[in-house]
Amino acid sequence: QARQAGGDTLVHYSEEINAQAGARLALEARLRHAVERHELELHYQPQQSLADGNLVGFEALVRWRRDGQLVPPDQFIALAEESGLIVELGNWVLEEACRQLHAWQAMGVAPMVAVNISPRQFAAPGFLPHIEALLATSGVNPAQLELEITESVVMEDAEGAIALLRRLRELGLTLAIDDFGTGYSSLAYLSRFPIHKLKIDQSFVRNMQGVAEQAAIVQATIGLGHSLGLTVIAEGVETEAQRALLSGWQCDQIQGYHYSRPLPALAASRFLHASDQRQAA
Ligand code: C2E
Ligand code: MG
Ligand code: MG
Repeated sequence: QARQAGGDTLVHYSEEINAQAGARLALEARLRHAVERHELELHYQPQQSLADGNLVGFEALVRWRRDGQLVPPDQFIALAEESGLIVELGNWVLEEACRQLHAWQAMGVAPMVAVNISPRQFAAPGFLPHIEALLATSGVNPAQLELEITESVVMEDAEGAIALLRRLRELGLTLAIDDFGTGYSSLAYLSRFPIHKLKIDQSFVRNMQGVAEQAAIVQATIGLGHSLGLTVIAEGVETEAQRALLSGWQCDQIQGYHYSRPLPALAASRFLHASDQRQAA
């Protein structure tokens, strides 16, 4: 009886694996055409300076419009990364973000626009040439284009990654470490990264008030960032209480639902103009 039950479980289990593999292949096939079918779009999440309350820029976040539904990136970025599709997808994101940035520049406003770069995209041989070509053709000011990389890019080839970051910095780009504190990079490496900005991961911000250790980590990270000459931004700030704490700890910037959710391009333009007028007033 027991063996029977065990056998059934195994059958169900392998059926489930087959179904999952099938769904995955189907998803990959659709994702392969998402770029050419114009199914991808960027939303822009505002980032705020804590010193004066002004808008500093936006993080571009990709979405996949599939059958009228907006699919969030955690449902396809990992697959794109594993299948190699991330290079084409990532190039589209960079081009679209530059197009938007240029349009904003042409309207006389100059926000930063940050783009997420996945580890495989960063490691691809064509990455630097693509960025160089993009800067040459798009007409954007490189200082207003920010690249977000995670600590994991240095896992395999730290020296190569540092050299590439240096080249990107020489092009005038702004460089940020995303999800800081969740990876495995050592502090020794951090001090060697030629970066401008640290993004404190939202998992620390979420528990900052309840858990004393998490508060200590956030405060220490702000101090560490500043002592390395970096701008520090906290991600996932959802409440006024969190904003006030971070402000008291001299954190430079915040990003999160408290200031704004990610916005479609048109709404982001309106947000930009509204804050521009507030600043001028
Ligand atoms: P991320 O780069 O750390 O982006 C921040 C994520 O946190 C976004 O999720 C954003 O919508 C969400 N978020 C912002 N504020 C809050 C808040 O106050 N509370 C909560 N709970 N969440 C908040 P999203 O857009 O779903 O993106 C998830 C991840 O997907 C990103 O994390 C990034 O790693 C990846 N991703 C997004 N767009 C791209 C892209 O164009 N290329 C690559 N390679 N990865 C991307
Ligand atoms: Mg990011
Ligand atoms: Mg992040």
